[in-house]
Formats: sequence, C-alpha cells, structure tokens
Amino acid sequence: MSYSFVSHLYCPKCAKTYSSDALINTCTCGAPLLVDYDFESAKRMFTKENLQTRKPNLWRYHELLPIKSVEHVITLGEGMTPIIDCKTTAAKMGLKRLLIKDEGQLPTGSFKARGSAVGVSKAKELGIDELAMPTNGNAGAAWSLYAARAGMKSHIIMPKDAPSITRQEVYIAGSDLRIIPGLISDAGKMIAEEAPLKGWFNVSTLKEPYRIEGKKTMGLEIAEQLNWTVPDVILYPTGGGVGLIGIYKALKELQKMGMIAEDKMPRMVAVQAEGCAPIVKAFNEGKTESEFWNNSVTSAFGINVPKALGDFLVLDAIYKTNGCAIAIDDETILADQKEIAEHEGLFVCPEGSAVYTATKRLFKSGWIKEDETVVCINTGMGIKYPETVYLPEFEG
Ligand SMILES: *Cc1c(COP(=O)(O)O)cnc(C)c1O
Ligand SMILES: [Zn+2]
Repeated sequence: MSYSFVSHLYCPKCAKTYSSDALINTCTCGAPLLVDYDFESAKRMFTKENLQTRKPNLWRYHELLPIKSVEHVITLGEGMTPIIDCKTTAAKMGLKRLLIKDEGQLPTGSFKARGSAVGVSKAKELGIDELAMPTNGNAGAAWSLYAARAGMKSHIIMPKDAPSITRQEVYIAGSDLRIIPGLISDAGKMIAEEAPLKGWFNVSTLKEPYRIEGKKTMGLEIAEQLNWTVPDVILYPTGGGVGLIGIYKALKELQKMGMIAEDKMPRMVAVQAEGCAPIVKAFNEGKTESEFWNNSVTSAFGINVPKALGDFLVLDAIYKTNGCAIAIDDETILADQKEIAEHEGLFVCPEGSAVYTATKRLFKSGWIKEDETVVCINTGMGIKYPETVYLPEFEG
C-alpha cells in the first residue's frame, strides 16, 4: 500500500494542474498551488480504526500528506498537540465550551514546526539541498532547524524587529542569516530576486505547495480529538493565513473521505491586529482580495503580514463558512495574555491571546452563542516572547 495518496497539484485560481513530482513554486498565473489526493483509494487505509493504532504525531495522517516515501520523512515528533478545556474562562464568559489548541508545545515552540516538517521532508524527496525564505521569526526558526536535521543548507532573511529568540534559533541551526530593516514583504522581495540566481529553492509562504499540507494537520487533529466532529467556531491568528486555509482544506478533505458529517463546517474566523488588518478590511468591504497594508505594526509579530499571497483563499474560507474577520488592539492583546495565564495556567503567545480576545468580543456581540463549542488556536508558546511581558520592579 502507498504511503501517500497524493495525486497532483492544482491552481485554485485558474484550475491548471501540475505533477506532484515536479519541482515547482507557484502556478504560471502567479497563484499558490494546492495539493490534491486520490481520496477514494486513501479511504481504504485512512480509517478511524487504523488511526487509533498510530503514533501521536502528524505523520499518522501520511495518506493525506504529500511525501511518497517514508525514508524522506524528517521529524522531531511534531503533532497531536493537546486541546485544553478552558473551563474557568468559559464559565466567566458564559460560554458552553472554550477549547484552546496549544501549538506552543510543538518543537521550536510554534505551529510553524508543522509546515516545516512537511515542507522540508518534501523538499528532500524532490532532491533539494538549499532553501531560502523571508520570515517574521518563527518560520525561519522552524525551517532552519528542520533543514539542519535534513542536512540541507538554509538562507533566511528576517526583519530586525522580529523576536530575538528566533534569530538565535536560526543562528544555532547553522543557517545563513541576514537581518534587514523593514518588513517581511521587503525580505520576500530580496529572496525572490536572489534565490533563482543562486539556485536556492524559494520556500516563502505559499510560494511552494507543501507547507500548507503540514499546517492542515491542525484541522485533521481537531476533528480526531473531538471524536470526528467539528466545533461551531474556529478562531485563527491570521498573517499569511496558511493555517486557516489549511484547517479549512483538511475539514473539506475529511468530508470527502466520509470521516466527518458533510452538513457542518465550523465558522472560520480570521483574527488580526489593528495595526495590520488587511484581511479584516477586505472582509468588511465584502471584497475577495486584500490590499497592501501600509506602515503595519503590532507586537503580535507573527501576524504582521501586510499582504498575503493566499488572501483570496482565506476570504473564500471565511465566506463559505459564514465566518468573519476581526481586528484587536495591542494593548488588549497583552492584557489578555496575562488573563489567560491567571485563569488557565496557559502562557500563550500574543497571537494566541488576540484570538482569545476576539472570542470574548464576538461572544459579547452575540456572534458566538452560549451553547457553542469554540476552538482557539494558540500558535506559539509565550516564553518565546519575554519582551511582551511588562514586569514591575520587585524590591527584595
Ligand atoms: C506565523 C505565525 C502566525 C500566522 O500564521 P499564518 O498561518 O501564516 O497566518 C500566527 N502566530 C504565530 C505565533 C506565528 O508564528
Ligand atoms: Zn493558476
């Protein structure tokens, strides 16, 4: 039996298809490519019963991942992060069930480990030995460390304001690191120019098709952990939006496989920071694509993305699920980070805190109802961002 049932790549914009064995970045039309599978065949092996016997990491879903041969799997044990039942907070709010999926427990301290585990493994399978990417920090850290494990060279360009710990992670992994003034969009332009000249594979967000497949496993896990049901609402801190697109893709695939009911999808919510909210603006204006957000700024650095290549896919998932998009101010994000820690013992990252604030606001406004089950994605661990916690002076 095959390890993977990957069938081909397709363009969600112009419908052109490509071989999944080809070394390819984006569609000729410029849009990101998505991976498709032979679901009919996959169904025979990918069953609820078979899954129960497998290890608690994301490779348990290998039939719906793009790596064809198990020898190419590069792993640090990533996946199956816990879903924390936040009873104290839910009771305080008056909400039935508030669940936080804690991605801070993954290797490298953020959910970027999922995208890089699958992306690096597939790059290895395709024979790549040097990759390059712009990053807001966590992606660079994860891809550097997984590339090191795969014996690959990595070239990383990071804005100078990115969280300092991620710089150290990239450095310690032996990557070629460059720090620049400006934003991830500036770093992206540099990579786009330099990579083809130097023969590096450009693994920028959605410029290669496989990172999203790793992130999609969040959606597969949520369904499996909720005993093959879906929650009413899923909130996601949206930068490039890959995680949101991935979760939506995963749940659609499980519907095709007959593993979850076809008549219910969670309402997908994109949460952004007020200082960088291109998706929220597009949603409020009823648009299907976003515009570049000028002078973006937020302490939730992972979601400081002024223009996402996959914005049309994020907005499509929101519209199709009757979801919404909402922006939160930095001051509340940081105050709520402390509130979650005090109530639940969970030290979430600012991006995760933004999602929690969004839950409270949407509940207050009546958009989330009392009897609903809500899943918040905490994308990283709080201890990666010590500079976001204001510490008063302690006199001894
Ligand atoms: C990258 C990142 C995000 C945004 O992820 P996308 O899937 O690109 O939208 C959110 N939170 C953290 C901690 C991140 O590192
Ligand atoms: Zn296309």
